Amino acid sequence: MDSREYTRCLIIGSGPAGYTAAIYAGRANLNPIQYVGLQMGGQLTQTTEVENFPGYPQGIDGNQMMMDLRKQAERFGVDIRDGIITKADLSKQPYVLTTDRGTEIEAETVIIATGASAKYLGLEDEKKYNGQGVSACATCDGFFYRKKVVAVVGGGDTACEEATYLAGLCSKVYMIVRKPYLRASEVMKKRVEDNEKIEILYEHNTLGLYGENGLEGAHLIKRKGEADEQKYDLPLNGFFLAIGHKPNTDVFKDWLDLDEVGYIKTIEGTPRTNIPGVFAAGDCADRVYRQAVVAAGSGCKAALEAERYLADINK
Ligand code: NDP
Repeated sequence: MDSREYTRCLIIGSGPAGYTAAIYAGRANLNPIQYVGLQMGGQLTQTTEVENFPGYPQGIDGNQMMMDLRKQAERFGVDIRDGIITKADLSKQPYVLTTDRGTEIEAETVIIATGASAKYLGLEDEKKYNGQGVSACATCDGFFYRKKVVAVVGGGDTACEEATYLAGLCSKVYMIVRKPYLRASEVMKKRVEDNEKIEILYEHNTLGLYGENGLEGAHLIKRKGEADEQKYDLPLNGFFLAIGHKPNTDVFKDWLDLDEVGYIKTIEGTPRTNIPGVFAAGDCADRVYRQAVVAAGSGCKAALEAERYLADINK
């Protein structure tokens, strides 16, 4: 049944940015409503252990961390709901956002924390070995591959950055690059080319992955479709995707200023978007850092901004 509700603060997304915004908005008595989105807990629920979030000397399971954040938000009365936002009308205040169940939420302020999703090649094997050798985040999972052999797929800045990071931990890092050149910036290119542990496999594509107990290697093809095409198997312990991220911002594209990839543009140093009272936090507005602790910080800023904004408009 369709229905309409009102809130002073609507939070969309349930990663570190969404939950931190919820904790702050809840404590500030904004009585926020939060929709958790497609993947409750966000990208951290896809990783095993989080070892780089301050405050956990022994590390913490990604799912556990997100459940703890949820409990913390619930403690401050946040109305946390399953569901996604499928439509947005940001033409006038209160803004109207519609959920996948047809509920229309009138909101004075909106905090968008919908995150970004790593792109995958689309191989069945990627799902099969996810968390067992396949990862889309070197900073999150690289540590588990110390002194091991890994590959990074992609030839952009992210791939170069991840390969360089992994070279500091692993015995050998292959870069699997589909073109005969890297797309990355000159400085990043030079960094990987000069690194003795990194070997760049140009004009290579991945056909599949193999392994009995977890990942053991990748089936590669070199110069696909050419006369000298060659297929071979490369033994690997880890397979890291770095072929880009897609911010989850499609629903807002008619209203908000986005960059060419779809990240929400914010006023520098703030979570403010081009629409007053609409704030963006976390990876949906961050193409550079993409770290949980940064997302949490921006969620905090967004909630503080929402609180101040509501005070200014006397709501
Ligand atoms: P990019 O889109 O720049 O690069 C993606 C890479 O993945 C390309 O090499 C692309 O190949 C490859 N790729 C895409 N799809 C496939 C596929 N299906 N199979 C094989 N390879 C594939 O993404 P990035 O995440 O690297 O960077 C995004 C943006 O963020 C860029 O603007 C970048 O400069 C910026 N950035 C900046 C950093 C910094 O300044 N420190 C760090 C990280 C990112 P192809 O070239 O053939 O298309």
